[in-house]
Amino acid sequence: MGKVMSVANQKGGVGKTTSSVNLSACLAHLGNKVLLVDVDPQGNATSGTGVNKADVKHCIYNVLVEDLPAEEVCIPTTIDNLDIIPATIQLAGAEIELVPTISREIRLKKALENLKSIYDYIIIDCPPSLGLLTLNALTASDTVIIPVQCEYYALEGLSQLLNTIRLVQKHLNKTLMIEGVLLTMLDARTNLGIQVIEEVKKYFQDKVYQTIIPRNVRLGEAPSHGLPIISYDAKSKGAEVYLELAKEVMANGERVR
Ligand code: ADP
Ligand code: MG
Repeated sequence: MGKVMSVANQKGGVGKTTSSVNLSACLAHLGNKVLLVDVDPQGNATSGTGVNKADVKHCIYNVLVEDLPAEEVCIPTTIDNLDIIPATIQLAGAEIELVPTISREIRLKKALENLKSIYDYIIIDCPPSLGLLTLNALTASDTVIIPVQCEYYALEGLSQLLNTIRLVQKHLNKTLMIEGVLLTMLDARTNLGIQVIEEVKKYFQDKVYQTIIPRNVRLGEAPSHGLPIISYDAKSKGAEVYLELAKEVMANGERVR
């Protein structure tokens, strides 16, 4: 059975989408069958894997709100072994439309059930909020990856996220675990980065990935070409670190489940 991992943090711009796309692509590159699920109405993971949103007929909205089988919404990407369930701006309505519906927090979990036997990894890119879409993602997941940007106040807001994770564990998904905390956008030229690493490690201890993602211009450029970093520039530092992360995630495998 495949492992389902959410990439979540209600702060925007911390590297959720960059990490979802590139971890997915690197896991696929290493021979795993991977499904990326875009649960952010902005659809950045969708365009970041080369899918033209204008061509998308059905997206995760139709699955969550209209009960369309997820199998019918999966589409291949340009990367071998990597499929995606895309998101378009239509999804923006789901947050409100789901409120009065039955079992509104477990819709994604139910939708992905049949796909777990097909994929080795299912990775869910969450929106920058702790609303119903993120709740659906956490409820559907075995584990959660938390990207933390190496900047001042890195830990700010994380208590809210951890609180949400505890509530989900209590009421919706008892077995949800933290897969790991991923430090992102490290600027190696400043002391601040080192301080933040220490602070985050003190708090999360061995949950922090050894792999730290530096700021890398090529990582910022790749999405505008609709390519993950290993396709855009396989020799870049960005490609190297996300491959390292994928190996670390695979090695963690059964330990964190
Ligand atoms: P989130 O999904 O959490 O909002 P993104 O992954 O979209 O964050 O990242 C925010 C912005 O920063 C994007 O423009 C992205 O291309 C850029 N970015 C993310 N990680 C890096 C990195 N390691 N180096 C350079 N730019 C990055
Ligand atoms: Mg994003």
